[in-house]
Amino acid sequence: MEFQNLLDDIVGSIKPHLGEGNVANSIPELAAVEPNQFGISVATREGEVYSSGDSETPFSIQSISKVFALALVLACDGESIWKRVFREPSGNPFNSLVQLEHENGIPRNPFINAGALVVADRLLSVSAGETNGVLGLLRDESGNAVLQVDTGVAASESRHNHRNQALAHFLASCGNLDNPVDEVLDAYINQCAVSASCTDLALASRFLAANGARRDGAALLDPHQTKRINAMMVTCGTYDAAGEFAYRVGLPGKSGIGGGIIAVVPNNCAICVWSPRLGSSGNSIAGVAALDEFTSRTGLSIF
Ligand code: GLU
Repeated sequence: MEFQNLLDDIVGSIKPHLGEGNVANSIPELAAVEPNQFGISVATREGEVYSSGDSETPFSIQSISKVFALALVLACDGESIWKRVFREPSGNPFNSLVQLEHENGIPRNPFINAGALVVADRLLSVSAGETNGVLGLLRDESGNAVLQVDTGVAASESRHNHRNQALAHFLASCGNLDNPVDEVLDAYINQCAVSASCTDLALASRFLAANGARRDGAALLDPHQTKRINAMMVTCGTYDAAGEFAYRVGLPGKSGIGGGIIAVVPNNCAICVWSPRLGSSGNSIAGVAALDEFTSRTGLSIF
């Protein structure tokens, strides 16, 4: 089936899910979003884009940014980050403090908040003066030069980030941050507060479906590094529901509390879905349902 027809069908069939779940409120500004929106975009590795629904509406990318930050650190700095972050699913909430103390300040993986803070710290160190490398990468790969940080969301998170402050100070106490805590938190908050649409994010994620090749053909990552990021998205990308996501969708994916999810069909295409209402695991309910339908109907799954 043509992607365009399929995406239009999915927009129709997910409608019954649009009232399910609740928008995130841990960052108060995120709760202001109109909750019943849904968008989907697919970018093929050749660069064709198919979109339907609210695919051009910018939303807060939040934890989806963690994938791009990790890609940049691997691209600039190779494998040394793995001395400071593990690669196992956490089995705990994404902002848990308990596990970090048990494991002496080495976060379980780069997609929980503690791990993402360590990655943000390393990104600050290796990107000489650049404070939001994720925004630059997203602009370059999406071709959308006007992508911005939503400063209202960033300010809102800054006022309500006691838990991330606690994680960052604990990491610093263990010697696992090189930069001042406040600078790391600012960098992390600003990468999470980038606003982008489904189409922007599908295009920006295309390198994960193209063995690490950027929009202009240059290598961001080599094929092995790309495989490894995709593997980590399978095991750690969708909070504490990675098993259920693998069962239903069967693709590498990374979700954020803004309701977006990126997913990758290696060597084929990148997909982004967005709908703000989240289930109890923190993943977009309509977004997961849409990806489930996409892979079930196309057979495009890694399993
Ligand atoms: N900036 C958010 C936080 O640190 C990201 C949450 C998420 O999308 O998982 O709580």
